[in-house]
Amino acid sequence: MDLSVIKDEVTKVVVTEEQLKVRINEIARKIEKDYEGKDLLLIGVLKGAVMAMADLARAIQRHIEMDWMAVSSYGSGTKSSGVVRILKDLDCDITGRNVLIVEDIVDTGLTLSWLKANLESRGAKSVEICTIFRKPEAAKVEVNVKYVGFDIPPAFVVGYGLDFNEKYRNLSVVAVLSPHMYS
Ligand code: IMP
Ligand code: MG
Repeated sequence: MDLSVIKDEVTKVVVTEEQLKVRINEIARKIEKDYEGKDLLLIGVLKGAVMAMADLARAIQRHIEMDWMAVSSYGSGTKSSGVVRILKDLDCDITGRNVLIVEDIVDTGLTLSWLKANLESRGAKSVEICTIFRKPEAAKVEVNVKYVGFDIPPAFVVGYGLDFNEKYRNLSVVAVLSPHMYS
């Protein structure tokens, strides 16, 4: 969906389609280099990472495998609590695999630090994280993110997989949701 369709529902664009394309290609080059000669399994976190996974996977010029997990953080709905429930588990065994978690956004980082520990406990050879967006809060948490697309301001953003009440995931850019949409 183009920005013009929902122009009055957002206040400003944070990342454009062109910026996304350029950055994802840069990350893909780094991944190719870092995992040279090693197997690589990308694990996308549903549903937010669908766009990032589709674009990143296509930008990587080598064989990879893809799997998906869906998790939900218990909590008030707008803030995650760090207590995570698995809604959809992996289809594959990750013992001995090099795993790269693909996430949409790291805010508090609680979801990701739980997920990383969970995957490590299954005997993966390595577990790293790639997130397309990172908010300033994330810096406070002890979660080591290997690849970051963009550091963005601490506003609620939508688009490129990121939702508000399940909408806006199909917006092509990332934009700050106008406060009038949730008050
Ligand atoms: P946390 O890092 O555990 O706080 O949670 C990250 C999750 O919260 C992400 O995977 C998103 O689903 C959601 N989230 C955090 N910030 C935003 C935002 O600005 N827009 C949409 N979803 C967000
Ligand atoms: Mg969400």
